[in-house]
Amino acid sequence: MPDRPAPRPRGRMFFANPGPTNIPESVLRAIDRATIDFNDPEFVENTYHPARAGLKRVLGTSAELFMYTASGHGAWEASLANLLSPGDVVLIPESGFFSDQWARMAEGLGLSLRKLHADWRRGVDPAAIEAELKADTGHTIKAVCVVHNETSAGVTLPLPDIRAAIDAAKHPALFLTDTISSLACMPFEMDAWGIDCAVGGSQKGLMLPTGFSFTGASAKAMEAHKQAKLPRFYLDWTVMMTRRELRSFVGTVPTSLFYGLQESLRLLEEEGKETVYARHARLAEGVRRCIATWAGANDGPQFYCTDPTRRSNSVTAILMPEGHDAEAVRRIARQRFNVSLGGGLGKLNGKVFRIGHMGDLNEPMLLGTLGAVEMALQLAGVPHRKGGVDAAMEYYSATA
Ligand SMILES: *Cc1c(COP(=O)(O)O)cnc(C)c1O
Repeated sequence: MPDRPAPRPRGRMFFANPGPTNIPESVLRAIDRATIDFNDPEFVENTYHPARAGLKRVLGTSAELFMYTASGHGAWEASLANLLSPGDVVLIPESGFFSDQWARMAEGLGLSLRKLHADWRRGVDPAAIEAELKADTGHTIKAVCVVHNETSAGVTLPLPDIRAAIDAAKHPALFLTDTISSLACMPFEMDAWGIDCAVGGSQKGLMLPTGFSFTGASAKAMEAHKQAKLPRFYLDWTVMMTRRELRSFVGTVPTSLFYGLQESLRLLEEEGKETVYARHARLAEGVRRCIATWAGANDGPQFYCTDPTRRSNSVTAILMPEGHDAEAVRRIARQRFNVSLGGGLGKLNGKVFRIGHMGDLNEPMLLGTLGAVEMALQLAGVPHRKGGVDAAMEYYSATA
């Protein structure tokens, strides 16, 4: 027999990464449109403005919204470059790989980084932020940057409590938040929660392809922007505001993504914000029942997040038992069962794998993923208590 390459897996890949996420069929169909001039009044009036207004409703803001043809990193950079000046001190509470990335970016842009150390397995205590700000009597800290949902660790931080901590310290720092993997998955209210700048992206809860990102900016942020001297051009809000009609984007607008956005917003509004959040919470709980079963008497895979009240409703990070490789489990799931899981990022590589449960998902999709993971644990020789998938099914049927 001649050597033949391994056959391509048949059937649909179960895509369980915590971003990018599954794109609904109707969004794919909506994007499938001929090119149009992005200044064409038909596009601007019927797609661009309604989509922009819808996105503001999802963010819970009536403030300014600026958009970029870039992934989430671009909007992160915009949040810093538009609000701060060289040497300004930014306080970044540690939550995991993504808070570290934002911090590295701040340093790279010439800001003075003050990192607030915290355990990645539970994230920062708001009291520690309050103490740090109270100690800063000269108000040298210009911004506090918090990742709402730390996608690398599966930890969600309580933003309203952090806002309360900033207020309790009577500190004027701007409050910047990354809502990239929480928006449209769990409650996020930019205005009601007193957030000055909210950073979001297209390819997670919004169920779109990668390629555009955005920042909401409060009135206080717009004031700070006028004084901010970090160099910028493509991401500059002032440059954007000179585009009278669009008030966003320097350069070409990703029109195809806007057709998709219009449809994803329609889906979200048809389901309703609260229902979308409840669906995410319920699907996540089934995953957690499964993992709690696998954990057994603590010799199986564990929740990476040690605080049950902070376990994320959009992603679960699973810590392997000592001596077992998370990458081996991911490889088996991918090669044998055509299931794509998230890997451990940065220092968590090999130690953690992640199941994304954000966006366009239902019970059977997650049960398929969990079933494949349970088989992969078996094949990789990872100790675990059987019956994880049963526990998830029991929960989903009891709450159907
Ligand atoms: C995905 C993600 C990012 C990075 O976004 P990109 O689109 O990959 O640049 C930043 N923060 C969080 C919390 C994320 O989940």
